[in-house]
Amino acid sequence: MRIKGIDNLKIPDEYLRILHWDKNGEFYIGIINDSIIIKKRDDCCLFCRSVVNLVRYDVFNVCRHCVEKLYESNVGDVLYKEGI
Ligand SMILES: [Zn+2]
Repeated sequence: MRIKGIDNLKIPDEYLRILHWDKNGEFYIGIINDSIIIKKRDDCCLFCRSVVNLVRYDVFNVCRHCVEKLYESNVGDVLYKEGI
């Protein structure tokens, strides 16, 4: 679900500053398992920040390249050591 502004959510100003969030920006809010996810709207890959060939998973975007990288990985592999 896309929402406009987050004034009613009472997110601490320190968090907003760290995340560079503008209270009046656009955000996605969703539920994954037993968690509520609030994410600033950005149309880029969660892992590599690419803006092309994106696949949407709930509030997250993942590019085709990263989907393939995840698909080809083995249990225990560490991907994106310098990323997220
Ligand atoms: Zn990517």
